[in-house]
Amino acid sequence: MRSFSYARARSIDDVQACAADDDVALLAGGTELVNWIRIGIERPQRVLDIGGLPGLREIRRLEGGGLRIGALAKLNEVAQHPDVVSGYPVLSQAILKSASAQLRNLATIGGNPLQRTRCPYFRSEDPATPCNKRIPGSGCSALHGLNDRHAIFGWTEDCVAVHPSDPAVALACLDAFIVTEYAGGGRRLPVRTFHPLPGEEPTGHSVLRPGELIVAIELGDAAPQSAYLKVRERESYEFALVSAAAAVEIEDGRISRARVALGGVAARAWRLVRAEQELIGLSVGSAEATEVITGAFAEARPLAMNGYKIPLARNTALRALALAARQS
Ligand SMILES: Cc1cc2nc3c(=O)[nH]c(=O)nc-3n(C[C@H](O)[C@H](O)[C@H](O)COP(=O)(O)OP(=O)(O)OC[C@H]3O[C@@H](n4cnc5c(N)ncnc54)[C@H](O)[C@@H]3O)c2cc1C
Ligand code: SF4
Repeated sequence: MRSFSYARARSIDDVQACAADDDVALLAGGTELVNWIRIGIERPQRVLDIGGLPGLREIRRLEGGGLRIGALAKLNEVAQHPDVVSGYPVLSQAILKSASAQLRNLATIGGNPLQRTRCPYFRSEDPATPCNKRIPGSGCSALHGLNDRHAIFGWTEDCVAVHPSDPAVALACLDAFIVTEYAGGGRRLPVRTFHPLPGEEPTGHSVLRPGELIVAIELGDAAPQSAYLKVRERESYEFALVSAAAAVEIEDGRISRARVALGGVAARAWRLVRAEQELIGLSVGSAEATEVITGAFAEARPLAMNGYKIPLARNTALRALALAARQS
């Protein structure tokens, strides 16, 4: 491992003074960054610890509805917060199915969407392995290699990776925003488009710019009828093969609003936008609703080894909808 200097930021000004420098890496919980340094994905000369920045760990209700979650809130703090448990169960459940309890006590909600793909070629300890995300222009080893964990939607020949975050799938389902600050300004970025598709930016990991600090995640009105379902090879400490986040509103037994996002199928959480519209007026669990969700997979493009994801993701979405409808 290369050596680097370490300092603690005391204010957002400290971060903005140096965060845009290429050789500085921000460290929040450190559960991703330290691994990147270990395997050579990142080689910072300076690490700036933002974990103790004041005021960024608070979770509070917004005037007029919604919730603001400070970027430095630990995953477990978010999952266990009473307003999240009652108002946004899909987010609480997605977090509790992420990583392990120990990691969730360290990892932050702001750092989570910035984790990078688990594609084995991207994380290879052999720096010569072709991977456009790691060495732009080198090629994609997964396209004709091991691609059982890879995308069925939105991929190009440049990259077929999926984004591994569970909370990001729930946040995309909830139409949440990532709030940032940088020297002289700030932005509210929709989680739904926070991770670029390879057709937009094959080498990028997020739309965050150098020097831009995530200060909070903002949720809109509560979605108490919502649920997250994750399918993985073992029940703990494992990334999703596929997952689904669903939020519904039901009137007189019929869906009046539906939001469904899939994880493990694309470089970003994949919203079933057309199906969401077609579900309105149908009953959860009806043959018509099943047909709508099945139809949403007509545009899926499986790779050589991941055709299994189509029926798996379809059934996961249907079960997540049923679980969401059962919440009250
Ligand atoms: C073994 C293992 C299993 C895991 N399993 C899962 C899983 O099942 N599901 C899942 O969703 N995740 C999983 N994770 C990922 C884990 O949740 C993330 O590593 C974690 O959320 C990242 O947060 P952090 O605070 O530790 O980020 P760090 O490691 O500190 O930082 C990660 C990146 O984000 C940047 N960053 C952090 N905070 C900010 C900020 N506020 N503003 C700007 N940049 C920032 C850092 O500079 C760095 O580039 C797993 C991780 C491990 C190690
Ligand atoms: S899928 Fe993406 S991350 Fe994986 S090898 Fe190809 S370019 Fe790299």
